[in-house]
Amino acid sequence: MTTDTPVLIVGAGPIGLALAGDLGWRGISCTLIERGDGTVEHPKMDLIGVRTMEFCRRWGIANWVRDAPYPGDYPQDYVWLTSLTGFELGRERFPGRAFETRPPQSPQKRERVPQDMFDPILWRFATSFAHVVLEYGTELIDFEQEPHRVRATVRDVATGVTRTIAADYLVGTDGGSSTVRERLGITMSGNPALTYTTNVIFRCPDFSSLHDKGKAYRFIFIGREGTWLTIVAINGADRFRMSIVGTPDKVTHTESDIRAALRRAMGKDFDYEILSIMHWVRRELVADSYGRGRVFMAGDAVHLTSPTGALGMNTGMQDAVDLGWKLEAVLRGSCGPNLLRSYEIERRPVAVRNVTASTENLKRMLAPRAQRPPPPELFVPGPRGDAVRKEYGEWYTQVMRHEWFMNGYHLGYRYDESPIVWPDGTPAPPIETQTYTQTARPGARAPHVWLPDGRSTLDLYGRSFVLLRLGPDAPSAAGLQQATAACGVPLEIVTLDAPQVLEAYQRRLVLVRPDGHVAWRDDSEPADARAVIDCVRGARPVSIGAHVRSERVPNAAPHERASEQRI
Ligand SMILES: Cc1cc2nc3c(=O)[nH]c(=O)nc-3n(C[C@H](O)[C@H](O)[C@H](O)COP(=O)(O)OP(=O)(O)OC[C@H]3O[C@@H](n4cnc5c(N)ncnc54)[C@H](O)[C@@H]3O)c2cc1C
Repeated sequence: MTTDTPVLIVGAGPIGLALAGDLGWRGISCTLIERGDGTVEHPKMDLIGVRTMEFCRRWGIANWVRDAPYPGDYPQDYVWLTSLTGFELGRERFPGRAFETRPPQSPQKRERVPQDMFDPILWRFATSFAHVVLEYGTELIDFEQEPHRVRATVRDVATGVTRTIAADYLVGTDGGSSTVRERLGITMSGNPALTYTTNVIFRCPDFSSLHDKGKAYRFIFIGREGTWLTIVAINGADRFRMSIVGTPDKVTHTESDIRAALRRAMGKDFDYEILSIMHWVRRELVADSYGRGRVFMAGDAVHLTSPTGALGMNTGMQDAVDLGWKLEAVLRGSCGPNLLRSYEIERRPVAVRNVTASTENLKRMLAPRAQRPPPPELFVPGPRGDAVRKEYGEWYTQVMRHEWFMNGYHLGYRYDESPIVWPDGTPAPPIETQTYTQTARPGARAPHVWLPDGRSTLDLYGRSFVLLRLGPDAPSAAGLQQATAACGVPLEIVTLDAPQVLEAYQRRLVLVRPDGHVAWRDDSEPADARAVIDCVRGARPVSIGAHVRSERVPNAAPHERASEQRI
């Protein structure tokens, strides 16, 4: 039996669900297959970054995330300590998510919502579209590419019966051990083993009443050997995740190791129930290519990172959004032959930057082990110990700040070198890490500015290209309208006489792509409007090698080888 679909997505983790939802939202039919049954037994991600929340806002599901059952008043503090009943060395305070304020650069704020709450939200979003088909218990076995199709062989996990799904495009969102990547023969580069870690999810309803450190999101435990353990509050109630950082001579941990670690962390025996155990290897890897022909990959299938910085799923969400509008444009026939090639060119350098930053954060977290072992006095009561703890704790607090403030990564990623972005000749702004300064330079995320009617500029973007005409004397943009119409590129014109928008965007004409990145800007109509439109729709030749090969994971060793709106 053969079924047909424009896009076959393999793997219904957060990235597959988001891509299916984005395509559904764009009116594109797709089929999403998942070999599991959708149950999240061991939630991994729990921090939804501010850019991902901006996507949720675009999709109309930000309130679903806000209303997730993670308690809004659960403090999000990060605490470093010798044990829960021992000495506190320092703390970075953050309020519960209901009380956290939005950064000035965004209409949204990040949210603490773990995967077993977020996946169902994405599932609800994706399956709200009748043209999105989601099949659980269906596994991709293999696929073949033909000139105009991909033929996938899938197996019903329950019955073992195989069938064929024919698709115009196939996207592997099938995680770190991606079958799609393996079948394409694409290798990953970087560091395949940063740490060997054992994650344990346990239930303990009265956890915070057993010690004097109060409710917090993450506890980082520092022993005589340095950083050895973390515990995070998974659901802000009764479930916690303990992560034991392995050492070169001990890479896996038995149940008795786990129970000993819990006792040491608490400083005394206590009652708890172990719910699941996951041994995992923390990696710093990026795929050497993001696809071949009609087959692409996104999410963990192409980048594996230390979770320190929450740049795993959040980077994958950006992949899904970059790929979603491009697949739509290809399937609707409004783009040039090279639009999809720009996917890897735009996204791979972001992955390289993000996995590298996450490893740097990991090194910071492990600095008490690798760089500055705690002095023995740190563990001794009394004034001398207090002084040592204060100095050491303040040092660690400063070190760890890099991880808590990362909007330069979450919001500041740019496609400066993209072949489908028309440069405006201005110098590239500095690359930011902790801070983020908005810019409307082509390639950047289009800035957020509140509009007089209470909307954000970000609310204008998503469905099509948007041409902003800014200021009292904005040019008519007739040439750009004619060029887009001639190519069948959907364009919405938005005329805004709001000084704060002109100030943020710096030009009177700004063309914003459906993913919310600036494609082109100027104060006057381009001399050759068709050339600009052909560039941004991928109708000009692309040299993939020139853009991609210069981006390498540091220390990389081969591993596994037109409507109109006036506001
Ligand atoms: C401890 C920990 C904490 C983390 N915290 C965060 C965080 O706070 N924020 C963040 O952004 N990231 C975080 N991450 C990373 C994040 O969890 C991952 O980046 C994210 O889950 C990747 O999503 P994905 O959809 O690409 O892959 P996955 O979540 O791995 O999903 C892939 C899916 O594909 C399915 N599949 C695989 N092969 C096939 C096949 N052949 N056929 C059909 N289906 C298949 C699998 O069953 C799976 O459901 C964390 C990771 C860890 C380990």
